[in-house]
Amino acid sequence: MEDCIFCLIIKGNIPAEILYEDERVLAFKDVNAQAPEHFLVIPKEHISNANDATDEALMGRLSITAANIAKEHKFSENGYRLVMNCNSDGGQTVSHIHLHCLAGRQMTWPPG
Ligand code: AMP
Repeated sequence: MEDCIFCLIIKGNIPAEILYEDERVLAFKDVNAQAPEHFLVIPKEHISNANDATDEALMGRLSITAANIAKEHKFSENGYRLVMNCNSDGGQTVSHIHLHCLAGRQMTWPPG
């Protein structure tokens, strides 16, 4: 999608600190990190949010990719939080589905 910031990152038109890439997904550091470790995993195809997600394998791949990166970067044992915001009440600000992975500090509950 032309005016989607994450599609522009996928195309390489906007710089990002890429952690992982394959034919279906891309992972990159969040530009406004909310924890010492904070990255996003996105599908390369434009899907606006969880309401539009139909591909179970692709959705599973987002979380498995996040877990693999957590293992690779050695914070899987201490733990991390995976978050997917949906629409306005969910706090979604970028309309290209993405899984947040946050780590490196104690998370609290309930989330704000
Ligand atoms: P959400 O509020 O769940 O839609 O999350 C969107 C996330 O995208 C926020 O955490 C932003 O900091 C992050 N973000 C927005 N633009 C960029 C960018 N150009 N590169 C990396 N992360 C971004």
